[in-house]
Amino acid sequence: MKIDSHERAAMECAKEHALAYLDSLDKAPVNATVSLAELRRRFVHALPTEGTDPVTIIDDLAVGVADGLIGNAGGRFYGWVIGGGLPSALAADWLTATWDQNAGLYACSPAAAVVEEVCGEWLKDVLGLPASASYALVTGCQMAHVTCLAAARHAVLSRAGWDVNRDGLGGAPRIRIITSSEVHGTTTRAAKLLGIGTANIVMLPSDAALHLTPDTLREALARESGRPTIVVLQAGDVNCGAFDPFPELIALAHQANAWVHVDGAMGLWCNAVPAMRHLLAGAEGADSWATDGHKWLNVPYDCGYAFVAHPQHHRAAMEHRASYLLHATEVRDQLDWTPEHSRRARGFATWAALRELGRAGLADLISRNCRQAHDLVTRIGALPGARVMRVPIINQGLVRFLDTSTSATEGDHDRRTDAVIAAINASGEAFFTGTTWRGMRCMRVSVSGWRTTTADVDRAVTAAAEVLQLPTLEVCVTS
Ligand SMILES: *Cc1c(COP(=O)(O)O)cnc(C)c1O
Repeated sequence: MKIDSHERAAMECAKEHALAYLDSLDKAPVNATVSLAELRRRFVHALPTEGTDPVTIIDDLAVGVADGLIGNAGGRFYGWVIGGGLPSALAADWLTATWDQNAGLYACSPAAAVVEEVCGEWLKDVLGLPASASYALVTGCQMAHVTCLAAARHAVLSRAGWDVNRDGLGGAPRIRIITSSEVHGTTTRAAKLLGIGTANIVMLPSDAALHLTPDTLREALARESGRPTIVVLQAGDVNCGAFDPFPELIALAHQANAWVHVDGAMGLWCNAVPAMRHLLAGAEGADSWATDGHKWLNVPYDCGYAFVAHPQHHRAAMEHRASYLLHATEVRDQLDWTPEHSRRARGFATWAALRELGRAGLADLISRNCRQAHDLVTRIGALPGARVMRVPIINQGLVRFLDTSTSATEGDHDRRTDAVIAAINASGEAFFTGTTWRGMRCMRVSVSGWRTTTADVDRAVTAAAEVLQLPTLEVCVTS
């Protein structure tokens, strides 16, 4: 039976809205301009009794959300760390939704399982990870941490003679996580989800280069030397993109029988660029790694990757068997490696993105975004009333805006910084977000979108210059 005209019309309608949206990205404001009250007025209604024609629904949705979307699919977005979607990855993602595969088991979608196998191998290759590592495609780096740290928990507790799968954590030796002050909050959250607890996270101070130093780690490891220990290192921290010195730190951790996990949400991608590979030297010696597909690889949300050097612990932490399922023996059933049961076939978009870029295109994307971040930070930081706080090591850097009155305090500079960020965003020309770094408010500059051009960078610098020339910053917050 062919699809009927209503169904076809709904898909055509969605396609037209999608293309019109992509066409508008260069001109439309990057920020959302609609108020919360107006969004609620449009959407918050009682659930209707009668159904509605699909085309009307898609039209209503596209029109209703338009000025409430943030333009991170475009080239002028530098907030948080949010990449766009490469054309083939976006198109493959449309098909993924259309095919509606449950990619938990080979039996549920043989094609999805095999495409994920290819993704796993390609990703280990481009990220410089051991070919023998196991992998999982998950929803983001957060769940990649949970997956990797679940494997770590299994490993460090089995070394202490404890079976966490059978006996849980009650009465188990208390695991500790040792990391640096640059750690991302998703590691803390993974520790909570896994029952490790935030009181068991030791956050060591990093040095001026934002590195965890071997001396600091050595001392911390020695403090309770018998305790099951996981060391979490940074490959590109979220504010400045700093990389821990892997060879020394991993050797120390392994001497102490600890598991080493690397947060490489952004930084692992630097392996794609030969001239940046030194940043990751030694990282391949860790026990697990987490990164994102939806940030720098420019796969649509949501997509992250977990890798584990010890497949037996990864599998022991995730494996799932049930008599009604159909478990494969010759190929990989994804649910043996992922925290989810039923799941989206994320491999299709990842496979498409990696093919669209190829090794050369990926290297070009990574190095181009790093150059653009450097230009944004140094050019905006050179404007009157601005100060460069951190030149990017890779694709993130920090700028602070100063209150120029003579008696200005750090608090005044903090307020000025937040006001300048809000005013740049209100211009619709570029979008940045703030952070508190070493006690000071700063504007984060993060570039990870494939669409960003030199002209986009120029527009952001111009927007910042115009804001800095305004006599006062009265940012109007609509509600
Ligand atoms: C974004 C980010 C995460 C979390 O990734 P999600 O994809 O948002 O789950 C973890 N670590 C770092 C360094 C990040 O930048």
